[in-house]
Amino acid sequence: MTRVAEYCAPGAAAPDDAEAFVPMETIPGAVETGWLIVCDHASNRLPAEYGDLGLPADEFERHIAYDIGAEAVTRQLARDLGAPAVMSRFSRLLIDPNRGADDPTLVMRLSDGAVVPGNARVDDAEKARRTAAYYEPYHQAVEAAIDSAISAGHPPAIVSIHSFTPLWRGTRRPWEIGILWDTDPRLAVPVIEAFRADPLLTVGDNEPYSGRLKGDTMYRHATTRGLSHALVELRQDLIAEQPGQAEWAGRLADVLKGLAGSEGLNEIRHYDSGGPGRGSDDGGDGNT
Ligand SMILES: [Zn+2]
Repeated sequence: MTRVAEYCAPGAAAPDDAEAFVPMETIPGAVETGWLIVCDHASNRLPAEYGDLGLPADEFERHIAYDIGAEAVTRQLARDLGAPAVMSRFSRLLIDPNRGADDPTLVMRLSDGAVVPGNARVDDAEKARRTAAYYEPYHQAVEAAIDSAISAGHPPAIVSIHSFTPLWRGTRRPWEIGILWDTDPRLAVPVIEAFRADPLLTVGDNEPYSGRLKGDTMYRHATTRGLSHALVELRQDLIAEQPGQAEWAGRLADVLKGLAGSEGLNEIRHYDSGGPGRGSDDGGDGNT
């Protein structure tokens, strides 16, 4: 499968300009599979008009700019399952698609020790501009994919692919994989159980982050629409290179294929969110 404009360093000879920059990519797939894959932090690209946001190039290779390895895992998982996928094509440093519109970490001024000069004076008008030009087109593509699956009679189970940094504030994170969820157990619980069947794995259950966050992507597209879902966090050192990406996409595909068609997975059922919303103290670590 062809990769499009992969990991262009902003400010480098990227082909994008303000007109040509496409903020999302939809990978076609069969709605009959019952799956929809989404990837909020697939890309570290910026539209040319934002330059490099005043950051040195190496900051764009870090987790603060995107989820390392998540794009490749998403592509292979979509291929293995034959399922559609929607990926963002802009860096979370521009605006974070996995945050509610009123979240204080929507546009980060400081992320894991890096000051983002291009975000220092972002006011409400600029936030609204980034929301309209990048954030909303991505979310509308996710919404359109869900709408077409539902109208074809196949409410999708949504799998969200993320990755996390292995070291956070000097502490090594033990999990290879974490599954984040709120109160709908239909997909998350059996996925956790399937990975925990491997005694060599340390599997996070709402670790390294809580999935109980109002306003994030899973809340907006899955919880509020009654769709089963799981957010998958993979440790970045395991999927930084192609062999690990292929291995983990394959493991996920095997688990999901084993669950395909299970009772209630592709029905619309509403579960209340158990989440209080994101606290203001958990921004800044480039999480989820
Ligand atoms: Zn992420």
